[in-house]
Amino acid sequence: MTLTQTNLALFGGAPAVDAGNKDIFHWPIVTAEDEAAVLDVLRRGAMSGTDVTKQFEQEFAAWQGLTYALGCNTGTSALHCAMFGCEVGVGDEIICPSLTFWASILQVFSLGGTVVFADILPDTMCIDPNDIEHRITERTKAIMVVHYMGHPAEMDPIMEIARRHNLKVIEDVSHAQGGLYKGRKLGTFGDVAAMSLMSGKSFAIGEAGILATNDRKIYERAIAFGHYERFNETIEDEDLKAFRNLPMGGYKYRMHQMSSAVGRVQLKHYDERMATIRKAMNYFWDLLADVPGLKAHRVPADSDSNMAGWYAPHGLYKPDELGGLSVTRFADAVRAEGTDCTPGVNKPLHVHPLLNVADVYGHDRPTRIAFSNRDLRQPAGSLPVSEEIGRLTYSIPWFKHYEPAIIEQHANAFRKVAENYEALLADDPGNASELGGWHFYQHR
Ligand SMILES: *Cc1c(COP(=O)(O)O)cnc(C)c1O
Repeated sequence: MTLTQTNLALFGGAPAVDAGNKDIFHWPIVTAEDEAAVLDVLRRGAMSGTDVTKQFEQEFAAWQGLTYALGCNTGTSALHCAMFGCEVGVGDEIICPSLTFWASILQVFSLGGTVVFADILPDTMCIDPNDIEHRITERTKAIMVVHYMGHPAEMDPIMEIARRHNLKVIEDVSHAQGGLYKGRKLGTFGDVAAMSLMSGKSFAIGEAGILATNDRKIYERAIAFGHYERFNETIEDEDLKAFRNLPMGGYKYRMHQMSSAVGRVQLKHYDERMATIRKAMNYFWDLLADVPGLKAHRVPADSDSNMAGWYAPHGLYKPDELGGLSVTRFADAVRAEGTDCTPGVNKPLHVHPLLNVADVYGHDRPTRIAFSNRDLRQPAGSLPVSEEIGRLTYSIPWFKHYEPAIIEQHANAFRKVAENYEALLADDPGNASELGGWHFYQHR
């Protein structure tokens, strides 16, 4: 026992990871090709134009395997356009997982709509298909699917439910650009895909987002909402024509062309870079396959699905296999070994005061139920998996290159701590009542 105690870096032992090797984490990969593309936009003074963005949209749509793509200035705005595209309006409800970044859903309030949260599956961290149907009412308009941290949601049962109830499906692909579910690209299952392409994501081009669909009506409504400069004679929808030239949403959402210029370059390399990330991340988990307490958040190796670019990768934690050791104490010890490990994920949205008591627009009612025919708020305790998951997860290093020797060091850090868990039990402070955060992009 004494020997293992001194072995852990937390107790003064040598760390498992050499401090030097940080390049393996650097992202995005920017070369002279990206720089030249940005400089061209800058020197032409074309930052607010749409010529480069339209080229990017065509290339992106072809890559995504959908007919139309619309560049937006953020993922938030792309998802807002997708909601308007699906005709979400006053009193309408979107069913969305509570475990996601706020921009999957909060825009719905500005449309007069609201959200009903569903729980997640603990192993995928994506919406639980069995927790959707009983939440459907005559006001449900859409299901928002999030492929959380690269893991594909269970699209087969979700689409079956949606079609049976005539609901739209919006895929928020911000964590999983280019990923596959059963051999088919994420974002092509629902009626519309929308996603962030901001610098922290696996497809990282700057502040930017994009929407893609095969549905011309959704596409035209998205244009009408926040792209006034294209809301012109090309619009075919009879209900929209009368309002051309002014944005129906009152928003200006076009993509910055320094982003779309980077996007065109990044797209050329993205599949290859993602494949490298997948090789590296799968190697990391293969090294830990027999370690108690730790479980990969990934798809089965023999499936036709994948983890896209492994955005913000996390591991699953089984405290029962480690004598009840808290994930907080576990993560402290792993960090001491010289690698990334932070307990928790996104905090569940349904418990935040904004979703419960805030009257954002002065309706004299909480915005969440401003136009609702019932009190659909969901108190603490109502979505147990989403509320518990923070105690059962921790971040892992996000390798961008396949360098086995370095990856082995990081995997050893996790293995070493898990195998020496008994030495950590005595001074375990336990977990805070809430773990995780409302967002975790490191703003530089
Ligand atoms: C990042 C993110 C968004 C929002 O994208 P922005 O580009 O930051 O506006 C939406 N949904 C999810 C799940 C995200 O992680």
